[in-house]
Amino acid sequence: MVEGKPKSREELKRTLKRIDGKGYKFYRSLKGCYAWPKYLLYVDHVQSDPFAPPSRLRVRVPQKVAGFPKDTYHNKSREIALRDFLTRCFHDACKKFCGGKRGTGNSGLITIEKPGQEILERNSVIVNESFVEARFTAGLPAHGRRIDGKTAETMFSKEIPRIVEQSLIFQNLDGEKLYEHVEVAEDADYLRSRLEEMGLIAFVADGSILPRASGVDPRPMDRRLAVPFRSPESLRVKVELPNRGLVTGMGIPKGVTLIVGGGYHGKSTLLKALELGVYNHIPGDGRELVVTNPSAVKVRAEDGRRIEQVNLTPFISNLPRGQTTEAFSTENASGSTSQAANIIEALEMGAKVLLIDEDTSATNLMFRDRRMQELVPKDREPITTFIDKVRQLYLEKDVSTVIVVGSSGEYFDVADCVICMVEYVPYDLTREARKVAEKYPSERRQEGGESFGEVVSRIPLPQSFRFRRPGRKLKASVKGVHLARLGDHVLNLWALEQLVDIGQTRAIVDALVYAGKYADGKRSLREIVEQVLRDIEEKGLDVLSPKISGGYAAFRKFELAAAINRLPTLKVRLERKG
Ligand code: ADP
Ligand code: MG
Repeated sequence: MVEGKPKSREELKRTLKRIDGKGYKFYRSLKGCYAWPKYLLYVDHVQSDPFAPPSRLRVRVPQKVAGFPKDTYHNKSREIALRDFLTRCFHDACKKFCGGKRGTGNSGLITIEKPGQEILERNSVIVNESFVEARFTAGLPAHGRRIDGKTAETMFSKEIPRIVEQSLIFQNLDGEKLYEHVEVAEDADYLRSRLEEMGLIAFVADGSILPRASGVDPRPMDRRLAVPFRSPESLRVKVELPNRGLVTGMGIPKGVTLIVGGGYHGKSTLLKALELGVYNHIPGDGRELVVTNPSAVKVRAEDGRRIEQVNLTPFISNLPRGQTTEAFSTENASGSTSQAANIIEALEMGAKVLLIDEDTSATNLMFRDRRMQELVPKDREPITTFIDKVRQLYLEKDVSTVIVVGSSGEYFDVADCVICMVEYVPYDLTREARKVAEKYPSERRQEGGESFGEVVSRIPLPQSFRFRRPGRKLKASVKGVHLARLGDHVLNLWALEQLVDIGQTRAIVDALVYAGKYADGKRSLREIVEQVLRDIEEKGLDVLSPKISGGYAAFRKFELAAAINRLPTLKVRLERKG
């Protein structure tokens, strides 16, 4: 943080002249705040060399100059969407007005975090009644290790002012696009908030484009190729949205829903859209009005993950040699065990919807047929399959499930709703599936027992959050959306399919460190995580770090808990019952 009276831009110019051609470390004298005609420029952090992560800067434009009308940010939905929109504008302006790499390392680059298809709360741009602030990075230019003061002067006095002018001043922006962005987000939030009272866990608007450009490109599939979504008549609901007005689409009711259909007919694509329906999407994404209960968690098999004292008994018990599963730990879980743990951990955090795709599930956790029941009696099979638990989950714990099953009609017996995908178009085959189930009664035996069983809450021990070696500084780095390093530990998040933005990962990694202060050996994992999220809600994402950065994006409690559950350092004790 830089305090005190701002310096003049002439002073910045003089400093750059003075240090031109000198050793890189002289850039440090730039730290501070400078007054520009339309904004304040903060140099918060100066990189140590041209190859180091770039320097961190901020510009703060007073609302008197920026001129954003109140209705572009007057509620949380709009504010988040506006900040997201301005980040995108700033990013585009950087591309346009920054002269690119000039010199050694990242010399000359001016950038801001590039958002993807989701509209997320980000701390890259802050908007309030007094100012608009953008946080970005700049590679302070050098040739070798010698300061290139002239290029720096160009960046500060020509490029940054143009970027600011074109991205943070309301009258220079495309107002129509801006309002579309905030209105789309507001509509999606509104729709999501209405799901519960409509008895739904998800809504997919008619006309939505669900398929993506490719497996690695999350932008929508070419509209000439994509079949737009069309709800079956029986599941169609109408909703009046604040901006868009009346929309229709498929409402997925609470309970157990199957998505069936032939291979390649679009089952996983629908489920994927539901998984990401916990987030809002940008205009043009195709999934702007695909919304899911915010506590929906995708669960999948995750061979090799670590498990720390999870009560797996609802799904796994009576292991060979009398091993118990009330507090099951392993460094290297199997497919079924990992998926069982993923389900239990989601429930522990309060998930109200589970999303499961047979493509990524452990078959032996999903179901066991009659012949296998005959050959391997239940007293010799530790696994109780999901098919025998899914109704208990709903009836006892109000947890709904959407499950993609193309292979087993056994699930017809436990389903409330059966959606069949035929050439990317959904049909409601609930009645037909019931008829089939009557015509060919299942010979399976119920193996689920009396009730689902207890989800025991766990208390992380304080040492779980000590990532630092004594006497050393903690080094944390984010390698990608699903991979981070914390001190000597690798944090592998590959199975968290609802983690979409590297900014979320950055925030989660810092939240892991931050969470340590609440891990007192008394609070449960859920309490710790919920406290961290309350702090963020109250004080913003900045609360996660003493340094000012713009690199965070908001995450859910489920993903933070999932990261904690995968920490190599996690140690817990179980909450005593009663
Ligand atoms: P399934 O899970 O039923 O096997 P997928 O959901 O994986 O099928 O879809 C198979 C292929 O069809 C994917 O390449 C996907 O992009 C494409 N696809 C899915 N939905 C649509 C759609 N609505 N329009 C056009 N192509 C689609
Ligand atoms: Mg599939």
